[in-house]
Amino acid sequence: LLVLGIETSCDDTAAAVVRSNGEILSQIVCSQADLLARYGGVAPKMAEEAHAKVIDQVIQGALNKANLTGKDLSAVAVTIGPGLSLCLRVGVRKAREIAGNFQLPIIGVHHMEAHALVARLIEKELQFPFMALLISGGHNLLVLALDLGHYIQLGTTIDDAIGEAYDKTAKWLGLDMRKSGGPAIEELAREGNAESVNFSIPMKQHKDCNFSYAGLKTQVRLAIASKNIDADIPIVSASSEDRRSRADIAASFQRTAVLHLEERCERAIEWALKIDASIKFLVVSGGVASNQYVRTRLDQVVKSKGLQLVCPPPSLCTDNGVMVAWTGIEHFRVGRFDPPPPADEPEDAVYDLRPRWPLGEEYAEGRSEAR
Ligand code: ATP
Ligand code: FE
Repeated sequence: LLVLGIETSCDDTAAAVVRSNGEILSQIVCSQADLLARYGGVAPKMAEEAHAKVIDQVIQGALNKANLTGKDLSAVAVTIGPGLSLCLRVGVRKAREIAGNFQLPIIGVHHMEAHALVARLIEKELQFPFMALLISGGHNLLVLALDLGHYIQLGTTIDDAIGEAYDKTAKWLGLDMRKSGGPAIEELAREGNAESVNFSIPMKQHKDCNFSYAGLKTQVRLAIASKNIDADIPIVSASSEDRRSRADIAASFQRTAVLHLEERCERAIEWALKIDASIKFLVVSGGVASNQYVRTRLDQVVKSKGLQLVCPPPSLCTDNGVMVAWTGIEHFRVGRFDPPPPADEPEDAVYDLRPRWPLGEEYAEGRSEAR
């Protein structure tokens, strides 16, 4: 099988061609980081236009690089949610156009499921059931993957996701936002003392597996104000003393943000092993999983609980087309796909988009476990 994967749920336009044996034939990501830096966030209308501008090039580029045309494909997979509906629509429209032209089956993919399942392309030993911690700009999920398409949500964020906290901290520290905030903080944190600012770990008194990053964001903002750091002065122009206090805050923030992940993962593993003692792996994926500090710290936790960590390479942790193509392959193999759309489908057709789409059911026993 050869599947084209298309991803436009947020601010990256991505496409890839993957073979069912896991071979990646091509992979292209076009990021809107420049737009984000200029406007300080994702504006749906602007993001939609940015996707529309590059989608043809990105898909054509992926096909060219793989030395294929549409008629060589077995199916087209596309993210249908969760995400911004204006943005999702650009990818889905294009996917249906290609699938219609070449009369190919089409697979609608869940973006977060794709973040988790791409680990199975990397680690062939990774069988169901397994656990996954999905950490990105919009999500903070701890799930138990029982089977393909069957997930139990052990924990989620009650406010912000960790990636959002990284991005805001980077902005307030005057870091270069042309890359996303996460890598900038990771880099600066290496210069800082992680114990210099005493941030408190979120939700310590809640013995569950949920997350919260809004309070930590506030703590960071207050620390920045107390050090008189001016975000309008870019870090490259800061005095050495100013630079040091920014690095200290970055390091202390990162340490606390990750301690929160560690604590929740430990508990989630205990819960999950009670549900199914055969679990061997915890997958960590999503943009924040490309962070080396995050990977090292979580590896220790997972090992200490007797499990093994699987973390895709950074390019497969942040948004990409490979994870969509691969998830398409997994579903296609078990017969979950839609028939080819009509070749003359009108451009204003109504599509099945799922901007809000939970991944599995909530773990009902979580509340009593938390007592
Ligand atoms: P979602 O998957 O929730 O829809 P998204 O698709 O926008 O969000 P991803 O590409 O999966 O996002 O992740 C982007 C997030 O990952 C951003 O918040 C970014 O700052 C963060 N990130 C990327 N690299 C790193 C890093 N090295 N350290 C920390 N955070 C990082
Ligand atoms: Fe994502």
